[in-house]
Amino acid sequence: MSVPDPSADELALLLDLQATDSRRRKLRRQLDVLPQQQQLEAARELDQRLAEELDEVSVALDRVGAEQRQLEREVDVLTQRRDAEQARLYDGTVTNQREMRSVKAEIDTTVRRIEEHEELLLEALERGEELESRRAQLEAGRASATARAAELTEERDAAAADLLAELESLATERDRQAEELPRALLQRYEQVAARPGGAAVGKLTGNTCTACGITLSYADVGELLAGPPLTECPQCGRLLVIDP
Ligand SMILES: [Zn+2]
Repeated sequence: MSVPDPSADELALLLDLQATDSRRRKLRRQLDVLPQQQQLEAARELDQRLAEELDEVSVALDRVGAEQRQLEREVDVLTQRRDAEQARLYDGTVTNQREMRSVKAEIDTTVRRIEEHEELLLEALERGEELESRRAQLEAGRASATARAAELTEERDAAAADLLAELESLATERDRQAEELPRALLQRYEQVAARPGGAAVGKLTGNTCTACGITLSYADVGELLAGPPLTECPQCGRLLVIDP
């Protein structure tokens, strides 16, 4: 494969172009994984989880409220029954002993049932209070998660704006560098750059290719140093600038 034999200035420019492209690739990766973006997603997830729990708590509160009202109605009915039985006992309508005993037994049963209902009502009220306080906690949590998400959205947009601005100025820089390079050299660069991953051109530094980072054998290095100023790395096949 014929590699054009460029001047030292052209090789320097080629490495500058590589530096520009490496920086652009890095910025694009940063845009993809902006920490503010990830924090924002975490804040939104938290808000979502709190909202779901809030729904569950609201449903439970409705249920407890209905339970309380039902128990209160039953206590009312039982209390009226007890009062009526007691009135019967003392208004002279019940006269014989057997009937009186039966009314008294009825009153005892009703009183026991009232007490049982009142106990259940107390439990329901306690559960309601716990749910109310959990609801207040969740609402406060949601308010702060929402505020945090708004804050992070602004930070994310600001961070992205910086990256996008730098990318834009690098694109202009790249156009200038590409224009100054001989066409054949640029084409060769673009061909290698189109391969997946990594840089298109590296530099022999010591006995290492900076494109792949692989340490070359002494034999390879000796051959490279004796060869043309621009060649290909025997390890990664990318362009390699020999800078003795
Ligand atoms: Zn290499």
